[in-house]
Amino acid sequence: MGNIAAMYHYVREKKGWGGIVPMHPHDFEEQLDLISKTHRIISLDEIDKSNSEPWCVLTFDDGTKDQYTFAFDILKRKGIPAYFTVMSGPHLTGNVPLVHLVHTVLSFKSDEELWELLSGTYDTSGVEEESQIYKYEQKKLRRYNKFMLNFKLSVTEATIFLESIFQSLFPDKQKFINDFYISTEEIVEMSQAGMTIGVHAHNHIPYNGDPQEFYDIEIGPCKDWMKSVLGINPIWYTPAFGGGVNQKLMLDKLTPVLVKNGFVGAFSTREGGISDNREFWMDRIDCIRLPPLGTSSYL
Ligand SMILES: [Zn+2]
Repeated sequence: MGNIAAMYHYVREKKGWGGIVPMHPHDFEEQLDLISKTHRIISLDEIDKSNSEPWCVLTFDDGTKDQYTFAFDILKRKGIPAYFTVMSGPHLTGNVPLVHLVHTVLSFKSDEELWELLSGTYDTSGVEEESQIYKYEQKKLRRYNKFMLNFKLSVTEATIFLESIFQSLFPDKQKFINDFYISTEEIVEMSQAGMTIGVHAHNHIPYNGDPQEFYDIEIGPCKDWMKSVLGINPIWYTPAFGGGVNQKLMLDKLTPVLVKNGFVGAFSTREGGISDNREFWMDRIDCIRLPPLGTSSYL
């Protein structure tokens, strides 16, 4: 039993969103109660103080509206602090990052239709074996579609393909963004209520291997935007996809650039606990691996 950071994405009911794996608000609330039995849930400001009992920080990625509507509401009611990271791209450029185009299209276009479109346009060789990484998905075509969109197609191909379908599903993109992401006013409200707000990304791209360039295109713009929204310089960072396939490289090379720009810590997607003398990069545990849904050796 030791210190942990719990990792959350969507906290909501599915309500038509079949392309995502959200945690139900009831499970979230129950999880907070269970974690509180073994850990003190603290704010990021407190992790470097001397703590007499094991602590837990709650980390939220992506800044989606459900986190404000459901998670923040529950946290506020219980008086529990948490750490939310947000994205500047959707607000500044009016674009929806690829990851959320995938979630939206998988939710509102049938797997059959999607597979017909994909297999009619692109090379699908190898998809049968390689899509096994998605073996937790029951439907074969869902596995195929996810593999095609997330791995087989280039980012440009996938974006163009998904943008056209997205456009037919949600013709008013600005309205989609307003509904799907936490607004600037809500970010201010959450910060004033004691939540820590950190940088997630500008356009949610995985680490590209060049630390300064990556900082300039993905981190700096989000940091500057947050400064203008909150009047505070963010000091915590959680990278999109935990860095992606270049995670190890990112953990090594990006740190000095982050430190130079005032960051004091960051969260990876590696699974693990956090020691009392924490390092710059902290491991996390996915919420589905924690009770009541999963079992974790860390609790
Ligand atoms: Zn993300």
